[in-house]
Amino acid sequence: PDVGLDDLYRDILLDHYRSPRNHGQLDERATHGADGSNPLCGDELRVELAVEDGAIADVAIDGRGCSISQASASMMSVYVRERGTDEALRAVETFQQMMVAGETPPEDFADIEALMGVAKFPVRVKCASLAWKTLEQALTSSNGPESAVTTDERSMGDD
Ligand code: ZN
Repeated sequence: PDVGLDDLYRDILLDHYRSPRNHGQLDERATHGADGSNPLCGDELRVELAVEDGAIADVAIDGRGCSISQASASMMSVYVRERGTDEALRAVETFQQMMVAGETPPEDFADIEALMGVAKFPVRVKCASLAWKTLEQALTSSNGPESAVTTDERSMGDD
């Protein structure tokens, strides 16, 4: 049964990788944005957000890199769309707990659960975490749509 589960997770990952959700740019509609990079693997990601009344009205992702980094970005975009910014920031913490402490994700994480298997591989954790770190940077930076973050700056999951 474990093998079947892994296959299911792999299928979910590949689906998000091949058909990323919310892919593109928001251009002038973006109120927040950040460029993230994971130099270890060569993953790059831009996250743009249109925040209205404390909620993420729209989100766009654009990047290149390994399947885990890009699938994670797609999943993240689905999760945060039409959620409050505070809720999105809490989800960054929840994701970190899932990756670092191996905690079972909440039910509303849906497809994101497929990344749980990545927690066993610290190098891949940086790939999976890129989307969430970039989201956090976009939400917390005072630079509007222009800011940058790298997974090497404040490491997630390697202690
Ligand atoms: Zn990667």
